[in-house]
Amino acid sequence: LSGSYDDQNIFAKILRGEAPCVKIFEDDAVIAFMDIFPQSPGHCLVVPKEPARNLLEMTPDASAAAIQRVQNLARAVETALEPDGIVVTQFNGGPAGQTVFHIHFHIIPRWEDVPLGR
Ligand code: 5GP
Repeated sequence: LSGSYDDQNIFAKILRGEAPCVKIFEDDAVIAFMDIFPQSPGHCLVVPKEPARNLLEMTPDASAAAIQRVQNLARAVETALEPDGIVVTQFNGGPAGQTVFHIHFHIIPRWEDVPLGR
């Protein structure tokens, strides 16, 4: 997890309004939008506004606020899409599977009869 935050990453550009997204929620702590390559229908991302690469770099207040938004969005996905399950994931570092180096949480609805895409 060496290195430092690079504000040219795509989620930083989305946060600054320099790149488009299909936004589903925004407040003081986070922005949430649809994943451009969904692993299942309804796959969305919760992106904290704090400029941190990963969960380990976040301040306690910002991570607590972000996780509360993740919980709210997961509940909204449950209500809207009525999935059979919901995966919440978050990757820290390239070897862990992270590809965009601005902290984000995946919310991935799952249905028993719908295989994962990609
Ligand atoms: P991770 O870093 O957690 O492995 O994955 C990054 C996620 O961001 C991927 O699911 C990818 O599809 C998504 N993603 C990458 N670039 C964009 C983009 O420009 N817009 C949106 N909406 N999602 C993106």
